[in-house]
Amino acid sequence: MRDTNCPSCGAGQTAVFRPNMNRCAACGLVWLDEKYSGAPVYEEGMEKNIYGGGKTALFRRCLKTLAERFPSRGKLLDVGSAYGAFLGLAAAGGWRAEGVEIDARMSSAAAAAGFKVYNRPLEELGLPAASYDVVTVFEVLCLMGDPFRAVKEIHRALKPGGLVYIREFNGAFHLALDGSRIFGALGLRPSVIHNFNFTAESLRRMLAAAGFRNIKLRNSPPTTGDPYGTGGRLGAALTGLAKVGYYCAAQLLYFASAGRLLAGSSFIIEAEK
Ligand SMILES: [Zn+2]
Repeated sequence: MRDTNCPSCGAGQTAVFRPNMNRCAACGLVWLDEKYSGAPVYEEGMEKNIYGGGKTALFRRCLKTLAERFPSRGKLLDVGSAYGAFLGLAAAGGWRAEGVEIDARMSSAAAAAGFKVYNRPLEELGLPAASYDVVTVFEVLCLMGDPFRAVKEIHRALKPGGLVYIREFNGAFHLALDGSRIFGALGLRPSVIHNFNFTAESLRRMLAAAGFRNIKLRNSPPTTGDPYGTGGRLGAALTGLAKVGYYCAAQLLYFASAGRLLAGSSFIIEAEK
């Protein structure tokens, strides 16, 4: 059954983009008809790096931003907290940190480390209204069954003046690379397609519709090395260099276009309640 209206912005101008994929002409969101709801499956040994090590620099950068904004810290909810790598850093930085993680194995690991972790989808938790200063969401909206409902829930659970800090893939970047023969021939897998493949515009519209204000989007620096193994035979060091090079190019384009063009492979979004 094809969704007829864009789930992000509500526009009716949607069309089949590829088999099982729809695209909104108004905001550029691409979404799958049949959503994947299982936990992502990664090769042995990759998982810890994906959920932790490869993102440590991004986590620290996020916490620096949050510390500047909330000097006396407060209560933080990390949606998609995995093994609790971010919760650990946040707690060390003075936050009262809680998580949401639907994968039982990962949520128990974080709970064993002493964190309160909800083990059901955010939309079903009925979290108390206006109870968090900050909600963080690292690469999770794209995997959800209903990110639009989730974003409304985040807005409800935040205190007035609270902040949502999101890292999300740039769907336009990944769809452009998907199926590229050049990358395939080199054994590279630089792209990934999710349930929801957001553009900058679709993220802005979704957050605005949920009631957020001062919505700020920018290119995200890449993860460190090659946690997803996307670089194939290039290996982690060269792939890491290629990613940094691409990020610099995207930043040049961003500044040259006075902030209008966001071509990075991922975005950082901040928005206030
Ligand atoms: Zn749309």
